Amino acid sequence: MSDKIVLLPDNIANQIAAGEVIQRPASAVKELLENAVDAGATEIKLIVSEAGKTLLQVIDNGCGMSETDARMCFERHATSKIKNIDDLFHIKTMGFRGEALASIAAVAQVTLKTRREEDEAGTLLEVENSVVQRQEPVATPKGTNIAMKNLFFNIPARRNFLKSNAAEMRHIVEEFTRVAMAFPEIRFTLTSNGQELFYLEKGSLKQRIVQLLGNSYNAKLVAVNEETDYMNIHGFVGKPETAKKTRGDQYFFVNNRFIKSAYLNHAVMSAYQEMIPADSFPMYVLFIDIDPSQVDVNVHPTKQEIKFEDEKIVYAFVQAAVKHALAQFSITPTLDFDL
Ligand code: ADP
Ligand code: MG
Repeated sequence: MSDKIVLLPDNIANQIAAGEVIQRPASAVKELLENAVDAGATEIKLIVSEAGKTLLQVIDNGCGMSETDARMCFERHATSKIKNIDDLFHIKTMGFRGEALASIAAVAQVTLKTRREEDEAGTLLEVENSVVQRQEPVATPKGTNIAMKNLFFNIPARRNFLKSNAAEMRHIVEEFTRVAMAFPEIRFTLTSNGQELFYLEKGSLKQRIVQLLGNSYNAKLVAVNEETDYMNIHGFVGKPETAKKTRGDQYFFVNNRFIKSAYLNHAVMSAYQEMIPADSFPMYVLFIDIDPSQVDVNVHPTKQEIKFEDEKIVYAFVQAAVKHALAQFSITPTLDFDL
């Protein structure tokens, strides 16, 4: 019998790997917005057409890339953010795997324009099926402008799995909200099919919450703020009367990275105890800052699940901080809602 094993061609290996990172337009939104944040941008524009299925573009005024880096950034495992395995435990940037742009270039038609402050001309690159099709100097503002067209054009099976534009757009807005919430000092805009959905001027976290989650939270936010040597927490929780019958409006960030944690959610819920009906969900936007060596963000490619070195301490701290904040505010009780 003949041997059976073959090495997959690079473009197929890339497409398979891309499936983990880019599942839908919203995954690309997360990766591209995080790259813009990591690049030190103070203004970030997100433009989409047909819920990102035909066009998804991010324009930033960050550090830009050299001509060589512009080519390199589409290679697998190409990153400027870590150099060795130890760096993984001191991560300060949102990205570090060096997989996002390689994945995007494997599953969409990409046009990149980028320029560093010190360069006279910028670089234009067009990439399709992971291969550079065109490269030339271009006049472009400082920063990076990356457009991704026709997501999954080369993987029809995957394209067919995309949901309706309305459903995909909800995912996009959710990812946009998570990143914009964590960086109120950055101006963000979101334009969909030529219509501006969000224009978020730089401001305080409180202003950003109201911009993103709605005016109904204005004057209904209770500040949370506690510091210890081990960790800090800051942010806002909704007054009990703003609790809703549906989940949502609940955001946890660890070192500015959005995370999902049923465990920490429970810590907040338990702090509300009798203050809200059993089947309702309080609003919260909470930021935990902790030594990066105390968390492992490397558990999952999208980095939404993380591991704490000492989960119990974090739980107790979150619960105590929220309880404390709610107690402060209810010293003059206005419990005029139904229990
Ligand atoms: P990672 O973010 O994990 O490093 P990416 O594939 O997202 O991997 O990006 C690869 C590299 O390309 C980054 O490390 C960075 O050096 C560069 N890069 C990507 N996006 C931008 C951007 N918007 N501005 C400047 N540099 C960028
Ligand atoms: Mg990245």
